[in-house]
Amino acid sequence: MNKKTYFIRTFGCQMNESDSDMFGAYLEQLGYMPTDNVDEADIVIVNTCSVRQHAEERAFTEIGDLKHYKAKNPAGKVVVVGCMAERMGKELKVKFPHIDLLVGAKSAEQFPEIMKKSGIIADTRDARATTEKIAAPDKPVRNDTKTTDESATTKITTFVTISRGCNNYCSYCVVPYVRGPEEYRPVEEIVEEITKLTANGLKEATLLGQNVNSYRSVMSVIDPASGSYTLKEADFSDLLAEIHKIVGLKRIRYMTNHPKDVSDKFIKTIASLNKVCTHIHLPLQSGSDRVLELMNRKYTFEYYYGLIRKLRYHIADISITTDLMVGFPGETDKDFKATLDAVSKIKFDFAYVFKYSPRENTEAFKLGDTVNKETKEKRHKELLDLCNAVAREKNSKYLGKLAEVLVESRQSDTGEYMGKTKDNRAVVFQSARELLGQSINIKIKEAKVHSLIGENIA
Ligand code: SF4
Repeated sequence: MNKKTYFIRTFGCQMNESDSDMFGAYLEQLGYMPTDNVDEADIVIVNTCSVRQHAEERAFTEIGDLKHYKAKNPAGKVVVVGCMAERMGKELKVKFPHIDLLVGAKSAEQFPEIMKKSGIIADTRDARATTEKIAAPDKPVRNDTKTTDESATTKITTFVTISRGCNNYCSYCVVPYVRGPEEYRPVEEIVEEITKLTANGLKEATLLGQNVNSYRSVMSVIDPASGSYTLKEADFSDLLAEIHKIVGLKRIRYMTNHPKDVSDKFIKTIASLNKVCTHIHLPLQSGSDRVLELMNRKYTFEYYYGLIRKLRYHIADISITTDLMVGFPGETDKDFKATLDAVSKIKFDFAYVFKYSPRENTEAFKLGDTVNKETKEKRHKELLDLCNAVAREKNSKYLGKLAEVLVESRQSDTGEYMGKTKDNRAVVFQSARELLGQSINIKIKEAKVHSLIGENIA
């Protein structure tokens, strides 16, 4: 008998990618196999993003196209999950009647129960098995590059969700509305998950949360003399220290960070733990204090720049990446210049530059979309050109040098390997040897904006 299959299309952030991995893991526990061919799938899942209008439009197109899938496969099921399912709810079903089930972002962890109740899958296992959180210890490990030919024995890096939701209400952002307030997984549960994955060959874990720096939980501390244990409050630094103890784990990454919650304790912790990678993604958004206040970011540029100096003081070779936004309502030429100046002053290793996208029900939406399209385009290009020039210049410091790389994946079409340095630079190189999962030194021959091209000289 042919095995049943599923197809997942994921839009948006790493949190969605991580959730999609969990949905796939659950279906695989029930005997489903993944497929790249949507037409042959028994279940099609579209994991959606509401952060920008553009992401929603792409998901609309994808969901709309599934009408043809349903016409060819009347028994096939279309499941729409994530932020759009949360934000729009039944409105989506009215627009696309071929959707069989909606699972909102706040209910991601209840995916098995909801799927079971809907009758889409037949899960006859003990009820406890399906009500357990699906961030289960045996979920498969993912690699970042989807077009690779790594096998189950060569899984190297994974995302591990440590918290869900956000309490910050940045004025332009829908995440607190669609994902709800912050909830944190217990320290022991996270450590247990990574320990099991490491025993199966994992080398690197990326801890995921909308704001990892506000992580709060409790952990048990055992008194070696008496064997008794007490509970103590744990923050993100404590969590990092616990994960650092896992034998066999080589690298720890984390994202995303909110500048207002980056503490001195955190900076000293990442400086002292050698498995913690020398990279931080610290979204600045704007160099203008006036715009930062309108964005409700709760810091000034001076404060942010102070953090950069502290990070560079404690970790000299740390790479710092950021998110920047142009065209926020009311952004003037002077505000925009402040962002250009910030980039010139800080020299980010890489920056993601976005155009403001109005999102209904957010505070910024009430301000109108006042910066016209041409101005947004012009500012976007100018800022992106500057950021890319700085990124290339920063990458060029590697030219002719050896970079230590953890080899993560191999492109199935070109045979090229891709690995990352501890400071999060992607290095692409050729080799006839089997290198997946190894840490090796690669000589850098060429510096691009997004990657380094190297040569395996071993
Ligand atoms: S910190 Fe701000 S931008 Fe990030 S998810 Fe929360 S509200 Fe959105």
